[in-house]
Order: sequence, then C-alpha cells, then structure tokens
Amino acid sequence: MTLQTISVIGAGQMGAGIAQVCAQAGYDVRLNDVSDDVLESARADLEKRLARLVERGKLSGEDRSETLNRITMTRDLAVVGAADLVIEAATENETLKHKIFEGLAPHLDRDTILASNTSSISITRLAARTDRPERFMGVHFMNPVPVMQLVELIRGIATDEATFASCKDLVDRLGKTATTSEDFPAFIVNRVLIPMINEAAYVLYEGVGNVASIDSAMKLGANHPMGPLELADFIGLDTCVAIMKVLHEGFADTKYRPCPLLVKYVEAGWVGRKSGRGFYDYRGNFPIPTR
Ligand code: NAD
Repeated sequence: MTLQTISVIGAGQMGAGIAQVCAQAGYDVRLNDVSDDVLESARADLEKRLARLVERGKLSGEDRSETLNRITMTRDLAVVGAADLVIEAATENETLKHKIFEGLAPHLDRDTILASNTSSISITRLAARTDRPERFMGVHFMNPVPVMQLVELIRGIATDEATFASCKDLVDRLGKTATTSEDFPAFIVNRVLIPMINEAAYVLYEGVGNVASIDSAMKLGANHPMGPLELADFIGLDTCVAIMKVLHEGFADTKYRPCPLLVKYVEAGWVGRKSGRGFYDYRGNFPIPTR
C-alpha cells in the first residue's frame, strides 16, 4: 500500500521530528498529544526549525508553508485513526503504549498500519494486544529525526510482508536508510549504545571520572562526536533508564542493571535537555556539568 496520510502520536522530540520529515516528504500528517499546550509548543518549535532551514537556503519559503499546511495538530482520536499509518512515538512506557493502542482501536480504518517508534519494547508484545498484529511494525527513527539517516525496521512475529514493504517504502521516500533488526530487547542501535551510556554513568558514580573528563575522554579518545553523558542528556535520561530496564528484564542478565546514579537523576526530574538539567545544567548561556 502506498501511504498518503500518516498520524503521529506523541509530539515530543521524536514525534515532532517524525511529523516534520513526513510532511516535508509530501505526506498529510496528523500530530497528536495529550494536551493542547504540548501541541502548541510542538507547532512553535516546528515553525522555528523550518524557518532556520529557509534561512540556511535548505528549504524554499513555499515548501516551508506547504509543509506547515500538511500538518494538523489534533487531540481527536477519530482524526488520528483515519490514516494509512499511525506511528506511536509517546513516552517509553509499555503500559502507556498498550493503553494508547487500545484507545485508538475503535477509531482505526480497517487497513490502517500501526507502528511504534519504541527504542526497546517488544514489537510482538505491543502488536499482540491490538486487533491487527499482522499490520504492526517497529519503525525506529533516530534523534534528531530530520538529521539522522537511519531508521531501524523491526518485524513482530506476525508482521506480514505487505506491512514491511509499506514501511520500507516510507523510509525510502523520506530519503533515509533502513536497516532491519530482529525483535529482541532494544534491537540493534540501543542494545549497543545505551549500555555504553549506562557504563559511563557507572564511571561517574564510582568517581573514576567527572562529567567533563568522561565526555572529553570519549570524544578525543574514541572519536565520538558527543560524549556519552552529553548524548544521554540529548536522548533523555528517562528514556535511557526505561531502555536499561527493558534490557535487564528482557535478558534477565545483571550486566544490564541501570546505574543507581542515572536512576537518581531521573527521580530528581533532571532528565536532560528537555527538562533543562541532566548531567549538564542547560539553564544558563552554556551547559555546566552537574558533577
Ligand atoms: P518525549 O518525552 O520528548 O515525548 C513524549 C511525548 O509523548 C510527550 O510529549 C508526552 O506528552 C506524549 N504522550 C504521553 N502520553 C501520551 C498519550 N497517551 N497520547 C499522546 N501522547 C502522549 O520523548 P521522546 O524522546 O520523543 O520519545 C518518544 C518515543 O520515541 C519513546 O518510545 C522513545 O523510546 C522513542 N525514541 C526516543 C529517542 C530519543 O533519542 N529520545 C530516539 C529514538 C526513539
């Protein structure tokens, strides 16, 4: 099926980015979240990002207004459900994601494909609680969505080939590159990346280094473009802990235990850039390490 209308549930950093790239590629997009305030600020951020692209000569003024016109902000699930594809990009919490798909069920068109942008949760388990496990996929975008090239595609045990082909076609039309991963905890990228971030938090917790020395060591010593703690703040520490918990429970292996210091930051509400403070404090003119 060639997709035309795409709904995105969750207008946070990922959902807003997914909505942007889909609208820029010509799809009609409906963006949903739990409150009008979140949708309003997502719209304002989107307008700023597109204006910056125009300033840099990467988007014409006409394409900017067409892109904006293609995105409808809505809290109406009947509007969200009447789409060819619904991509769920809400908070990384399995119970919440089940509830979202359950709430959406009565509003879905018969042929609508469901996808989750989850970083770690079993696609098979999410799919099994819907009425259409054969038309359910993991479509895992990277952050920031407009910049990052990769999209991981994950089939659940029941996903049919037509659903996979439609999602692969979407990735191609977005000008991005798809890789496929089997449906095991955290798939490929986060199975490798998040335990490294968790280990960096342990290095901090044990006093082997401080925030600045750990990030410089990995930037200059391993040629990483961002240090692991800076990257953790960018991803969201809540998301990092959620992924570690999925790995820990999914493999029942203590090597995946979430670092207590990382958990403490989340308990404090210091979840990274999106809350103004994480391993760095972003409330001033430049980021200041918190340890
Ligand atoms: P975020 O905290 O920025 O945004 C989550 C959004 O979901 C919030 O705006 C919240 O209001 C909304 N939400 C919560 N409950 C909802 C509901 N019932 N209906 C509609 N919206 C609801 O988080 P994020 O970083 O955008 O992550 C979203 C998803 O994308 C998660 O599954 C995460 O694992 C995944 N992901 C994140 C990254 C990353 O680097 N942050 C990368 C790839 C995938």
